[in-house]
Amino acid sequence: MATESGIGGRLGTVLEGFVPGLATMEDPVLPTSQARGHQNAEEVVINMEGDSQPSGNDNAPGAARTNTVPPRNGEDTPIGSGGLLDMRMMRVLSDSRLIIFLIIILAKVLYDHSLGLLVFIGLTGTFGHHNGTLKKQVFLKDKRRIPLLLLMLIMLFFSSFFVYFVFEEQQLYKCLIFLTPEFDTFDLWTVLWCAGITDYILKFITISLKCLVALLPNVVLSMKRKGRAFLTIEQASQLYRTLPPVPLWILYFNQNQETHFVAAYIFTGAYMISKAHVFYGKGLALKNALGQLFSEVQYGVTPQDDQIGDSCPICQDNFTKPIQLHCKHIFCEDCVGLWFDRERTCPMCRAKVADDPTWRDGSTSLFVQFF
Ligand SMILES: [Zn+2]
Ligand SMILES: [Zn+2]
Repeated sequence: MATESGIGGRLGTVLEGFVPGLATMEDPVLPTSQARGHQNAEEVVINMEGDSQPSGNDNAPGAARTNTVPPRNGEDTPIGSGGLLDMRMMRVLSDSRLIIFLIIILAKVLYDHSLGLLVFIGLTGTFGHHNGTLKKQVFLKDKRRIPLLLLMLIMLFFSSFFVYFVFEEQQLYKCLIFLTPEFDTFDLWTVLWCAGITDYILKFITISLKCLVALLPNVVLSMKRKGRAFLTIEQASQLYRTLPPVPLWILYFNQNQETHFVAAYIFTGAYMISKAHVFYGKGLALKNALGQLFSEVQYGVTPQDDQIGDSCPICQDNFTKPIQLHCKHIFCEDCVGLWFDRERTCPMCRAKVADDPTWRDGSTSLFVQFF
């Protein structure tokens, strides 16, 4: 009973306002077991006297304030373990108030931009599906399904066309070539909208180009080269995709240029410096990818006939163009080439053989270039 009334009292304090309650709890003192015993005895005496109100003496320096005496009128908040519990409860309550407020704001934002969000969910789903499908088809090597890759090309084209058709008035396609779409003002949401749509369409174009590479017969472009072609396309795409948001953000920063020209210059300057840094990094990555594309890459040497076993450990079939890695393990050249487009180490013994395989498996970056 004492505990229940205690919590009731504390809740009363909480509902009356946090600050006074918190002020009493800033310095919780945990009594020793000895003091506790003394207080229990005192409590018994008080109860026997039938005096449930705290006496003035309780506040005297000599009298130990207890955490076992039930709080009265919700004013005397107990200290000690009960006090700590109160603090936690108050934090939870104040946190939950903040969370409820944030949920309300979030719901309002979602409601205001529901159409835009639905479009982005659709684009994300389309991107995820095609990205995964292409990766699987690349992994299948010669057994890739050509009709499926052709269907992907058609679907990606129509998805892009559909978005531009539905929002025809905004002329969003202009962003692809760094021109300004049709908007009266460029507020934050407009810029994010234009940059987001443009980035997704550029990603669809990237996947389409990779589809075309995957469709090429292996005699035209070997598996090993295809991995490097995917990497080059991806790095070129990432470099290009850093640019379309630039004119949009410059417009946004210079909206009130007449009245706030110093701020406009500072924001534009800071943005351009950070952009130049990102652009330079992506440029170096593309240069590196092009170097890999045009250089001859050998993962190992051709083994002697007596060294070759019955079957390739990867495809479990007879060896085609066997190759021996520096760890002495032997695989088909295409099998191990495909493996090193995903991993750096030998599939048998984990010895490090290849460099970073990122983007050589035909996948495209999930990152949306809003900035
Ligand atoms: Zn093989
Ligand atoms: Zn090995």
